[in-house]
Amino acid sequence: MRYIHLTLIAFMLAGCMGQAPVTGRSQVVFMSPDEENAVGAKGYHEFLQTAKISTDTVQTERVKRIGERIAKAANRPDFNWEFNLIDDPKVNAWCMPGGKVVVYTGILKMAKNDDQLATVMSHEVSHALARHGAERMSHQEISAGVQQVANILLGATAPEYTNAFNLAYGVGTQYGVMLPYGRSHEYEADEIGIHLMQKAGYNIHEAPKFWQNMKAANPKAPMEFLSTHPSDDNRIKKISQIIQTVEK
Ligand SMILES: [Zn+2]
Repeated sequence: MRYIHLTLIAFMLAGCMGQAPVTGRSQVVFMSPDEENAVGAKGYHEFLQTAKISTDTVQTERVKRIGERIAKAANRPDFNWEFNLIDDPKVNAWCMPGGKVVVYTGILKMAKNDDQLATVMSHEVSHALARHGAERMSHQEISAGVQQVANILLGATAPEYTNAFNLAYGVGTQYGVMLPYGRSHEYEADEIGIHLMQKAGYNIHEAPKFWQNMKAANPKAPMEFLSTHPSDDNRIKKISQIIQTVEK
């Protein structure tokens, strides 16, 4: 029985090896992009049913305009991009697989100009491009055993997967921009995000300034948070290094 499980795992691993964009990091994702996009679209549409869409047409247009430029730079014809501004004071933004992007009005206070808003939107889009949510779920499935993996393959749009996806992509949390992913995914999204920003014609030197604003708003991040996430100082330092590399 154990042998069958190992064979099954080996078979699935072979079919699920992938590579993150820009960094080229190898990854294992137990979901096809189609399944991932289907779960993402479902979670996104459910979210929109209860969310309060902003009536501020100027800010909404701004979010859509920046989003379209980032989408163009991302060059993913398989994505069906949508951008929304939600009237919600939470400091959050996310992008579901397939290009469903939600920005909360709470984060507009942190993004002092279009380049800074492009920083956080590029960062969130990068999590989706690099399939971080599905990768996280795949890791959880590896530790939970192969049975759950089979469940994912059979029923990716089951409600429990939508819920897990919402968690993985940081839907609904207070400081969602900083909370949902682990350290390596955050650094990778920062790196891909800087490349995207550059390609979309935004000023990448505004990226560290955005994270400075986030730091100023969160002077006392809890220890448990710091143990799994980059401290703002480390993040800003790394982003500055990436900017130097990108400019060379
Ligand atoms: Zn992130």
